[in-house]
Amino acid sequence: MQTLIQSVLTLQGDTLQSVDLLLIGSHIHTVAPAGTIPVAPHPRVIDGTDKLLLPGFVNGHTHSSQVWQRGLIPQLPLELWLANVFGSTPQQLEHLYWGAVSTAVDTLLSGGTCLMDHAYVIPGQELETVDALVRGYRAVGIRAVVAPLIMDLPFASGFPAGCLLPQSASPQSPTQLLTLMEALIAEFHDPDHGIYIGLGPTGFHRCSDELLQGCGELSDRYQLCYHTHLLETRAQHRLAQERYGISAVQHLHNLGCLGPRTSLAHCVWINDDDIAVFAETGATLVHNPVSNLRLGSGLAPVLKSLQAGVNVSFGCDGAASNDAQNLLEAIKLGTILHTVTDHDYDNWLTPEQAVQMAAAGGAQGVNLGDRIGTIAPGMEADLVLYNLNHPSLLPRTNPLQLLILGRPTEVVEAVWIRGRQIVDHGQVLTVDTEALHQVLRHQSLDTEDLQTQHHPIEPHYREVMLDR
Ligand SMILES: [Zn+2]
Repeated sequence: MQTLIQSVLTLQGDTLQSVDLLLIGSHIHTVAPAGTIPVAPHPRVIDGTDKLLLPGFVNGHTHSSQVWQRGLIPQLPLELWLANVFGSTPQQLEHLYWGAVSTAVDTLLSGGTCLMDHAYVIPGQELETVDALVRGYRAVGIRAVVAPLIMDLPFASGFPAGCLLPQSASPQSPTQLLTLMEALIAEFHDPDHGIYIGLGPTGFHRCSDELLQGCGELSDRYQLCYHTHLLETRAQHRLAQERYGISAVQHLHNLGCLGPRTSLAHCVWINDDDIAVFAETGATLVHNPVSNLRLGSGLAPVLKSLQAGVNVSFGCDGAASNDAQNLLEAIKLGTILHTVTDHDYDNWLTPEQAVQMAAAGGAQGVNLGDRIGTIAPGMEADLVLYNLNHPSLLPRTNPLQLLILGRPTEVVEAVWIRGRQIVDHGQVLTVDTEALHQVLRHQSLDTEDLQTQHHPIEPHYREVMLDR
């Protein structure tokens, strides 16, 4: 299958240029100046006039099950918010399947071609859950990394002074969880078809050293992405001091968990030494600005990290802490948020940098930097075509700036993933989105029992985090 996209505006380096692009099979074959690739032998020709073509963005961190908790959880800090999330997480495989489909569709229609699902898995039905998620992603045709959330420490351990709280027993040991991960890798990791398994220990706050280290060993053995939450909140920062006496980043580094295949969601509370460790090891910081503001977590030191040479990508985080899954929104906020942290405007992020972070940075963060994230011959064809005639991208000024800093709506015209066209004229070709909307409408969770804004853990949280 060959596709020729003619005379389309794209970003080459830091400048917009008009090019012809030839796709053969799943790859980009040729990128040439506009009007120089002859039409004749190519069966499918797309007129790129008034269009902008960019590499697909990567949603570097989300939790697809939370689609069902969109608009549900009150505004609370992470630790109290989590108590509400646990109480309302869907427990049916069908819900989780549609959560994956919905997340994938929202990603496609906001400029993404790949996502990292740091996935909730139903206890005792882990293989079935991952099967449901993978079926959802295959149905849509999106590229997806599924990193099941695994943990071996109880909820109360994730709090500073958590030892004062009643402790529940951990259902699974590190050995059991690592054996489970090996089974999931054997069954579902399928790079040739755009489905990947990642190692996804929830975060140091809920994981023993044995589990964190064991995940690192599996990541090395199978060359898989290692993905985990890191220092999202002040409470986690305090917990790290309490538990390790050193920075959580240094601790993870000592355990051998940080490397070029590692991506770390949030990193709001990292310090300058931690940033240096990231730069040295090649680990990726996944910035989730909407979620960080929604939960009052803080501002990740994104500008400092970039200046130190750290790879930074963007994520939406789950819909329960974002209330949407719009990648362009996360990118816009993540681009303009940091002006308040640095008065030197030379350091502020440009739209061109934001695209690089969302595409190439995102690809590196999910261990796919050699396959996707740039428009160049030999790369896999994960591409998004934007309609520059849409009113939200008018007037005709700098289309890239308007896409990143404006409020583009319904501007994704076409999407290709691995050379296969998934979206055309703004419509997803692979799944029936009307059926998806029907499911979301009719199978919404019964939320009557969920008005539990006050959790038993709250007095402890207030005492430790606010009153001391
Ligand atoms: Zn998360």
